[in-house]
Amino acid sequence: MTVKQFQAESKRLLDLMVNSIYTHKEIFLRELISNASDAIDKIYYKALTDESLHFNKEDYFIRVEVDKPNRLLKIIDTGIGMTSTEMEENLGVIAKSGSFAFKKENELKDGFDIIGQFGVGFYSAFMVADVVTVISRALGSDRAYKWESKGAEGYTIEPWTKATVGTEVILKIKANTDDENYDEFLEEYRIKSIIKKYSDFIRYPIKMDVTKSRLKAGSDKEYEQYTEEQTLNSMVPIWKKNKNELTKEDYENFYAEKHFGFDKPIRYIHINAEGTISYKAVLFIPEKMPFDFYTKDYEKGLELYANGVLIMNKCADLLPDYFSFVKGMVDSEDLSLNISRELLQHDRQLKLIAKNIKAKIKSELEDLLQNDRDQYVEFFKSFGKQLKYGLYSDFGAHKDVLQDLLLFYSSKEKKLVTLSEYVSRMPEKQKYIYYAAGDSIERIDKLPQTELVADKGYEILYFTDDVDEFAIRMLRTYKEKEFKSVSSSDLGIEAEENKEASEADKQENQALFAEMKTLLADKVKAVKASKRLKQHPVCLSNEGDLTIEMEKILKTMPN
Ligand code: ADP
Ligand code: MG
Repeated sequence: MTVKQFQAESKRLLDLMVNSIYTHKEIFLRELISNASDAIDKIYYKALTDESLHFNKEDYFIRVEVDKPNRLLKIIDTGIGMTSTEMEENLGVIAKSGSFAFKKENELKDGFDIIGQFGVGFYSAFMVADVVTVISRALGSDRAYKWESKGAEGYTIEPWTKATVGTEVILKIKANTDDENYDEFLEEYRIKSIIKKYSDFIRYPIKMDVTKSRLKAGSDKEYEQYTEEQTLNSMVPIWKKNKNELTKEDYENFYAEKHFGFDKPIRYIHINAEGTISYKAVLFIPEKMPFDFYTKDYEKGLELYANGVLIMNKCADLLPDYFSFVKGMVDSEDLSLNISRELLQHDRQLKLIAKNIKAKIKSELEDLLQNDRDQYVEFFKSFGKQLKYGLYSDFGAHKDVLQDLLLFYSSKEKKLVTLSEYVSRMPEKQKYIYYAAGDSIERIDKLPQTELVADKGYEILYFTDDVDEFAIRMLRTYKEKEFKSVSSSDLGIEAEENKEASEADKQENQALFAEMKTLLADKVKAVKASKRLKQHPVCLSNEGDLTIEMEKILKTMPN
């Protein structure tokens, strides 16, 4: 038996693979399981076109075995297998993908889920193994072969025996080093969790013997350990199921299983989009704010899958910042991935999906606002501030998405109202949408500046978040009505005669006002008589662009 050399490029490529393509070692298992799943898919596909073949679902599975004392991890499948030539071509030439060729030959298109395409995933096994052995028997052949490699040095192929069609990939797991732990890849719990994380939705069962304990026969306190074969993956992902088959509880379980939050989501959105880009998504609007939500530690994003295989845990590009509270996942067959399958090659598809998702979230929130006001108010208490920041950001570019999702406390209704509700109640002669900014509802209630507007019977919106007034400035108008702070000097409601009266007052008190201005010095720009006050002797008002509250906020900001 002669040792065959990898091609020169392949040697370099292998080195590159092992050392730099993947950021997490654990993904080797994802790659090997994906290959096993592809191999079963190929039999399934053949059975569709070849009448002599029958595909009994129960006969097809993937099995993971651990032999801890010998440091072996085996991934066994009942898939299509490889002939010695195929081993040579697919495992001996790096970046040659038998799966990609298979897809091309058979002109596979929609609904067919073969994952492989780059012909590099297999080699990720060398990140964790010193020796990789593949024993395989191809469908329709009675011969088996063993391929073995210690990495860049090359590989051997020799005849072997194997009773059934399929492939066994055997990894001799590396010994721990000072910096790297490899033992973990022989631990049952670790393997289980990696499979759950990356391969939960592989369509064939991934089985493994797991250790359990039970009461010893005849004893009521002594336990014994035993092993039992378990299927580790849930196979059919919730997002691939029909909405009609699913209950609210199914979605809530999925939310909990995925650790999206400890609360129960208020709404879920199940999307099955087909068209320019097809994708499936399950999105959640949480009820409670994550404890770190308004900190820089909070990471927005959705899980991104390509064909049921996890590519990214938090794909930030799928969500605009103002919807950063949304949790969930997206699965698409149309994504072109880069070689490590950790990144996307083009973001055009992603942008399309993101745009689509944004619109869905918006309409879901609108629906919530329309049909379940109490729930929406709860939601708004958690995440309203984020929506308002969104309105403020990018110079108001997102106003069409956000303006109708905002709520502000109303002086009249004594509860949170929308801008549209406010405008619909405006008396005909009212020109502006009035607002008053302050620290709390109670404080604003006592503001002298609100008197005149309230006295007119006009509704006032209370701005109690720092961001409110800044956000509204970005809007400028809502349904062609301008916003007006009650502290601005021109409220647009003083009648002409009142203005004249104040001119008279001004004359009368000129000396007093001059004295007051001297005393207050730089603290005020001018002291004037006003008709807007009733209960209060004096109030502050502003001229120009910044209101008093905005100035206060700007002063507290770090430069
Ligand atoms: P990819 O999956 O992107 O094609 P890989 O490096 O993961 O690339 O695998 C290379 C090729 O080796 C596959 O395309 C397939 O033809 C073959 N192969 C790998 N694992 C198996 C397996 N378990 N059963 C059958 N063929 C396999
Ligand atoms: Mg692969």
